[in-house]
Amino acid sequence: MNKSELIASEKRHVWHPFTQMRDWEASDPMFIVSGKGQKLTDIDGKEYWDANSSLWVNIHGHCRPEINDAIAKQLSAISHSTLLGLTHPSAALLAERLVKITPPGLNRVFYSDSGSTAVEIALKMAYQYHCHTGSPQRSRFIAMEDSYHGDTIGAVSVGGIGLFHGIFRRLLFPVDFLPCPARAGGLENASDALERLLAEKGHEVAAIIMEPLVQAAAGMLLSPRGFLKRVREMCDRHGVLLIVDEVATGFGRTGKMFACEHEGVSPDLLCVAKGITGGYLPLAATITADRVYDAFLGSYGELKTFFHGHSYTGNALACAAAIANLDIFENDNVIGSLPEKIEFTRSHLSSIGEQKHVGSIRQCGLMVGIELVDSSGEPYPFEQAVGALVCKQAKELGLITRPLGNVVIFLPPLSSTLSDISEMLRIINLAIAQVTESLTPQLAATA
Ligand code: PLP
Repeated sequence: MNKSELIASEKRHVWHPFTQMRDWEASDPMFIVSGKGQKLTDIDGKEYWDANSSLWVNIHGHCRPEINDAIAKQLSAISHSTLLGLTHPSAALLAERLVKITPPGLNRVFYSDSGSTAVEIALKMAYQYHCHTGSPQRSRFIAMEDSYHGDTIGAVSVGGIGLFHGIFRRLLFPVDFLPCPARAGGLENASDALERLLAEKGHEVAAIIMEPLVQAAAGMLLSPRGFLKRVREMCDRHGVLLIVDEVATGFGRTGKMFACEHEGVSPDLLCVAKGITGGYLPLAATITADRVYDAFLGSYGELKTFFHGHSYTGNALACAAAIANLDIFENDNVIGSLPEKIEFTRSHLSSIGEQKHVGSIRQCGLMVGIELVDSSGEPYPFEQAVGALVCKQAKELGLITRPLGNVVIFLPPLSSTLSDISEMLRIINLAIAQVTESLTPQLAATA
């Protein structure tokens, strides 16, 4: 097939996620055909910086020989066998490695294949745990406004982003939402709101689910430091399980292997996905404390089994990639290399912050959200899609990222060098300037 036939076929048959397909059909779709390090190459041979790590998954760059080799080695043995009633070496070895690097007390790994399924599993486990431990009335969940935990119905139930989740409300189970921690007005307010809710309904609550430190999909909203630890303490006092969703923050993004480490917190259930395979293959894990796991043990007839599993649960190729990913973390001292990159990014962001149309810049490790505002300092109207325009312009300039509304995301692979970071931020800075300057007269005219 030549390029124009490919485009015709793609436009005729592919339905893209989170995409207005009418716009897509009118666009010139970009086909990525290869990647190397921090760069992607399109069908015409043009290179682009991968400034959002291919939707926050890539860790050590594209086409890393170590991960390629690990997948090839596994492929030549077997690519998939089921974990229902069987097991395989890569699943066992990876579980042991994950237990070693995750916060203390998390000893059991339940595999699945996306962040959404990792969350879905955590929710079901939490509820079933209480059924087995004499508290079946604990069927409610607490979540945060502006949180995002994925797109399956359980994950949407605990999701707090109206734009994505509003239309599905009638399909969802009831959840109590706390004010978004970043907007609650500080640690005490955020904690008080939870304390009040638990005092009223704590005995009915199965678990609290939260993104630690940063609500990523909401536009990198930063929770007050210490909040996660407070939530842990309150969960303990009220017999409520804590589910921490590190799908976005895990595997070094915040500067530590897991965001929980910043506050010395061990959740009861930890959800990981995205970076687990270095961004190579779909894999996720829900990692639990012993007491959760133990509650599911019983005789066959007691029906304490966790009746949940997917066809590709614990896929061998993905597990092999994940082990290679963790090897690179160790061999390249990736976590040790991050403080310099994070500080370098911070200092470069301050010059972007001087632009008139840049509002707040939120950074947690190498997760960055740059908010765009109009001349009066207010967020641009949603329909204006200014974030999308900036990303379109950045693409012209050789960089790929995706906005979250008016927030431009910078989330580079952890393997990016200082000079890579500098070049990526130069392009983002330029794209913001070019788009917002070109918009100002139009906006003035329509005002
Ligand atoms: N949880 C968080 C915190 C996320 O950021 C995401 C995706 O961005 C998910 C869950 C869902 O992950 P997936 O897209 O792999 O289903």
